Amino acid sequence: MKIAIIGAGVAGLTAGRELANGGHEVVVFEKSKGYGGRLSTRYAGKENATRLDHGLPYIELSSEKFTPFVKELGDRGVIEPWVGPFVYHNVEDGKTKELRPSKKRFIAPKGMNEVGRFLARYVDVRTETKVGGLTHIGQDRTKKKTWMLNFTSSAVESADAVIIATPSKQAYAVLNTTIDEIATLKLVREIDEVEYNPSFSFMVGYGDAGTPDWAMLETDHPVISSITNEKIKRGSEQETSFVIHTTAEFSKDHENEKRDVVEEKILDALSEVLGGWAAVPNWKQLHFWRYSTVINPLPYPFMEVVGNDTPIAVIGGYMNGSSLEAAYLSGKAIGEYWNRKFKD
Ligand SMILES: Cc1cc2nc3c(=O)[nH]c(=O)nc-3n(C[C@H](O)[C@H](O)[C@H](O)COP(=O)(O)OP(=O)(O)OC[C@H]3O[C@@H](n4cnc5c(N)ncnc54)[C@H](O)[C@@H]3O)c2cc1C
Repeated sequence: MKIAIIGAGVAGLTAGRELANGGHEVVVFEKSKGYGGRLSTRYAGKENATRLDHGLPYIELSSEKFTPFVKELGDRGVIEPWVGPFVYHNVEDGKTKELRPSKKRFIAPKGMNEVGRFLARYVDVRTETKVGGLTHIGQDRTKKKTWMLNFTSSAVESADAVIIATPSKQAYAVLNTTIDEIATLKLVREIDEVEYNPSFSFMVGYGDAGTPDWAMLETDHPVISSITNEKIKRGSEQETSFVIHTTAEFSKDHENEKRDVVEEKILDALSEVLGGWAAVPNWKQLHFWRYSTVINPLPYPFMEVVGNDTPIAVIGGYMNGSSLEAAYLSGKAIGEYWNRKFKD
């Protein structure tokens, strides 16, 4: 069976790997240039030599179900334990104390996008290919019904089954194009209810300036939720550089604000937490995540439209949780299920 997967994040790539192992022909279509979705790494600074994880900062070992994947990534040299040091900054008393996380943390020394790159080895991924909609091709008795994927480039491609592995709002946009043709209504309604926190990732570099001795600082500041010290994180020669993640509240309030105003406000907050020197970086880059983390996940590992002969399912990090683990388990669950269901 030819299966098209929309989205090369961890959910889509995990489903793709599972289904390819089950003998299916799998093609993953990804709108951006790279693999991994929200596990992303940016190259910035002088000669683009500074590496920064501006999406998910680390992988947390949250449950036993996730352990085999984390172990596999570790065994293959993609990730390693992150030992910190981690600190917590209290705004009221201005003090910074050691923080001991209750769960194990892991990072990819070469960049979080290495996780996507690793998974993409197992499937055919077409990057820079945005799926704009789906058309249901039916009613030819001699031929099985199929899906036609419509790309924004105006090219098309057919598939026997489709998995949409994007944030729910983007899945909604794609699914909505099929709504008159099949019974996707319940599915569309449910995923439309899912809401996300937005988030800004602000990346700053300071050249040869000295760096704090912590790898990550978390805080109760109203603007900043965490600062990752990319130099200490990678244990590398790279310049002093940070990725600053803003709080959900600040991000929501400033979603439509001019980007230079947002940058100024984050720099002011940064100097309150770290001191005045931090307000004047050599370079800065701002990224806005419209869909950062899920507020109200759906209580299933995946959803599919049952009762028609053109299978379609939605998966992702908004199924059964609001995390990378949820994305991985969602991809694994649909892969195992469809391998059983479409054995012949
Ligand atoms: C700043 C930040 C911090 C986070 N912190 C944490 C954390 O601490 N712990 C945690 O567990 N999780 C965290 N997350 C969330 C975690 O990264 C996600 O839950 C997980 O990566 C989701 O994976 P996914 O495969 O479901 O979706 P994604 O990674 O979003 O992948 C979806 C892919 O689909 C592609 N796509 C979308 N529409 C189309 C289309 N029409 N055609 C083709 N391709 C398309 C996108 O480009 C993307 O590559 C964080 C995320 C961010 C951004």
